[in-house]
Amino acid sequence: MRKNSNHRDYFGLESKLSDADREIQQSIRQWVDQRILPEIETHAQNHSMDIRWMTELAELGCFGGQLSKEKSGRDWSYLTYGLAMQELERGDSGLRTMASVQGGLVMYPIAEFGSEEQQQKYLSKLATGQCIGCFGMTESRHGSNPKGMETRLVAKDDYFLLRGDKAWITNASIADIGIIWAKNEEDHIVAVLLDMKKNGVSVKTIDDKWSLRASITSHILMDDVRIEASDILPHARGLRSALTCLNKARFGIAWGAVGAALACCDTAMDYACNREQFGKPLAQFQMVQKKLAETVTAIAQAQLMNYRLAELADNGQVTAGQISMAKRANVEMALNTARTCRQILGAEGLRSSYPIMRHLMNLETLVTYEGSHDIHLLITGQEITGYNAFT
Ligand SMILES: Cc1cc2nc3c(=O)[nH]c(=O)nc-3n(C[C@H](O)[C@H](O)[C@H](O)COP(=O)(O)OP(=O)(O)OC[C@H]3O[C@@H](n4cnc5c(N)ncnc54)[C@H](O)[C@@H]3O)c2cc1C
Repeated sequence: MRKNSNHRDYFGLESKLSDADREIQQSIRQWVDQRILPEIETHAQNHSMDIRWMTELAELGCFGGQLSKEKSGRDWSYLTYGLAMQELERGDSGLRTMASVQGGLVMYPIAEFGSEEQQQKYLSKLATGQCIGCFGMTESRHGSNPKGMETRLVAKDDYFLLRGDKAWITNASIADIGIIWAKNEEDHIVAVLLDMKKNGVSVKTIDDKWSLRASITSHILMDDVRIEASDILPHARGLRSALTCLNKARFGIAWGAVGAALACCDTAMDYACNREQFGKPLAQFQMVQKKLAETVTAIAQAQLMNYRLAELADNGQVTAGQISMAKRANVEMALNTARTCRQILGAEGLRSSYPIMRHLMNLETLVTYEGSHDIHLLITGQEITGYNAFT
């Protein structure tokens, strides 16, 4: 028997939402409940996804929703975007990752750094999910330090050749296009819009990962792929441009992590109120209440940070350091939450009849991608001390 459900929004933040925001949040929540939750465990077990999710996510506005309508977006505020990411990740981190990559890492750079022609050609198709994109920055030898990338764009007479590798790339195996970051002959980092079906491009799916199993991750090999000048994003300026894209995705992770934590917390609350040991519900034991109370406190703190982060972003005042801090802190909070909630379920928490282990394993990816936990600590460390401890 459960008396309250106020743990999901302890400080009543949702009361600040507009009707439009509430409607978007509800429609995504409903889609996740009806469409995703009944089948996600099977996909995670089978290491598969349903390609139809792409068009359904598009219909919900989850691809580039925060872009303007002229750029095939929906003029969403950062708050709306954050809420959408939270609701998706309550279902599975893989879903939010798909939306982050397609919107923040593919549509955003095309909208921001692409030519008029590139925007016309791709943005609306990406927004509707007719075209799938991927973002290639990480390489097998260069993860946390993308400056070291070895992928090269070599100038020929009136064209270029792209050669190198990209590792751990979300959706590469199903992508039509990729935003590939490479160094040109002057050692400047540029962004290439790569048609993934071109000669010389080969993709290999990583099929043995234990995390984000309902999302496809792959390695890309580029063996002297012919690139036209019109395939280069003309306004992308080095790593700084790539990091602007990553900030969009990191903002989404900060919100998404709260969704994963809420899913674990909901499960543990229900379980603790219904499972009896020593003749009373687990929720009546002080140590279980301590676990639940600390979990709800941690989620509430993360929610407060997210709402403020969105407010700053909507006012154009948010800094990269603030996004970095929220990404790291909220992912750590979600991982701790998943571990604590798993313990509350005892052995049952290990089974796929409950979503906690899936979220827990997914959250290990969040700790690492889009800048690892350590790298985000170093970003904050540099901001607060003035010293660079990266190298
Ligand atoms: C499921 C999944 C999907 C992904 N999708 C994409 C994608 O779509 N596109 C893309 O480009 N990349 C993607 N990535 C790659 C991801 O961004 C990288 O894995 C990440 O940047 C870390 O790089 P690395 O794995 O090479 O680790 P490394 O850089 O080798 O780091 C290993 C460890 O050393 C630590 N470390 C590194 N440098 C320092 C330092 N200076 N000080 C202290 N500690 C340090 C790190 O924190 C980490 O713990 C994905 C990864 C995963 C797991």
